Amino acid sequence: MIHLDTDVLIVGAGGAGMYAAISAARSGAERVLLLDKSLIGRGGATIMAQMTVAAALAEESDDDWRLHLDDTLAAGRGLCDEALAAILCEEAPVRMREMGAWRVGWARRDSGRIAQVTAPGHSRPRCCYVDFLNTGPAVAATLRRQISRIDAIRRVSNLTVTDLVAVDGAVVGAVALDAASGEAVTIAAGATIIATGGLTRLYRRNSASANMGGDGYALALMAGAELVDMEFVQFFPIGHLAPRLVGMDPIMWDPFRYKLGGRLLDGAGEEFLALYGSDETDAYTTPRDIATHAIVSEVAAGRGSPHGGAFLSFEHIPASDLRAAFGPVIERLAKNGIDLARAPVEVSPIAHYHMGGIAVDERMASSVPGLFAAGEVVGGANGANRLSGNAITEALVFGARAGRFAAMKSRPQAGGTLPRPRRSTASAISRMPAKVRRPRPCCSRNCAR
Ligand SMILES: Cc1cc2nc3c(=O)[nH]c(=O)nc-3n(C[C@H](O)[C@H](O)[C@H](O)COP(=O)(O)OP(=O)(O)OC[C@H]3O[C@@H](n4cnc5c(N)ncnc54)[C@H](O)[C@@H]3O)c2cc1C
Repeated sequence: MIHLDTDVLIVGAGGAGMYAAISAARSGAERVLLLDKSLIGRGGATIMAQMTVAAALAEESDDDWRLHLDDTLAAGRGLCDEALAAILCEEAPVRMREMGAWRVGWARRDSGRIAQVTAPGHSRPRCCYVDFLNTGPAVAATLRRQISRIDAIRRVSNLTVTDLVAVDGAVVGAVALDAASGEAVTIAAGATIIATGGLTRLYRRNSASANMGGDGYALALMAGAELVDMEFVQFFPIGHLAPRLVGMDPIMWDPFRYKLGGRLLDGAGEEFLALYGSDETDAYTTPRDIATHAIVSEVAAGRGSPHGGAFLSFEHIPASDLRAAFGPVIERLAKNGIDLARAPVEVSPIAHYHMGGIAVDERMASSVPGLFAAGEVVGGANGANRLSGNAITEALVFGARAGRFAAMKSRPQAGGTLPRPRRSTASAISRMPAKVRRPRPCCSRNCAR
């Protein structure tokens, strides 16, 4: 059996995990182990993000992190953990500028200023992007580049953590399954950070990748950590419904609504958001929870579009404006038989983000000694409803914090050594299915199948 030792173990290599690794290394951790059940920096939600990242950079208008906080708390319907929300907003600008310095490529105006748009729920232009649906891929690529330059960070792909190992109530490592060999791997760690992202894959209609099934919540809960707000799941209101869209993300319509507006219509072609207290006369302003409620209510009342959602129409916008806003995406839409100048598409709500998660303090420490969390797996910062753009920000900000505090926690006492999880490790391995622990070829010459 393979055994690994590390100062800081990071489970999950999306935006939060990669930033945590960078931060742990620059905070003095000499051995940082970053592992992922998928490929490092290529699994999970971060690389899929197509829209914006929110931070009070004040590039387009006056702004301040406290105004960002006001909007975050209002969107969260008064149910945010205010201390976490404040950290998110206050530390966002420094993380965004750092990403800029690492050449993420934030879109810029002709003046050279970073472009910031007003996403629904934000009181001013605050949301940055990398143009033509490239925000998440650019964030992930930038962080991958950074971690590859740091010797202290060891990266291991295709390793699924199945259990955390605790000794005397403190997490001291983990047990993982190597997808390639089917072997169990044990890991001793001075501090462990869970950065495994969300759980929206559990819903029938979702925007998730296959590895967003909520592993981190289960790992933390089984280790004795507290979870909060698990009932708060955000539905993205305008997930693509019809016609069939191949090779494009179902949530791609949002960035174009920021740029162009677009009209949300019921099955009879009538606008309906005003019935739910939202006014989109001048801009795309309806927060996700209200838009979702409006569409679901219209469908329930028998006023939905043919496939059970609503129409999203850009037909009133000149073709030249559509081309300028959509860029190369227009051709990809054409290959799917979609011509936005001539016909609307159908959209409907899909599970998109999880506001609940592991309860942490301001150091991103859970209630279990030795166990930290970062990114979407953390609960509380966004209350009952997350503002657009706050999730990537949360991954970067909370990742940086978790890495720093985990590195501090992991520093071995002078002359001390890390405990190697032995007995508790054995019991964690015994919880793996037997066929996984001792893999056999599925078919042999005598196979009955
Ligand atoms: C399609 C889509 C578009 C989005 N667009 C935006 C946007 O424009 N702006 C915004 O702010 N937010 C957006 N979000 C939300 C945002 O992308 C996520 O909240 C954020 O990226 C989460 O980052 P993370 O590092 O916490 O998790 P992820 O990026 O999801 O990474 C988690 C990693 O953990 C790994 N993992 C999971 N379980 C295990 C395990 N047991 N063992 C080992 N590894 C494991 C996964 O393989 C994955 O690589 C979007 C989400 C989706 C799905």
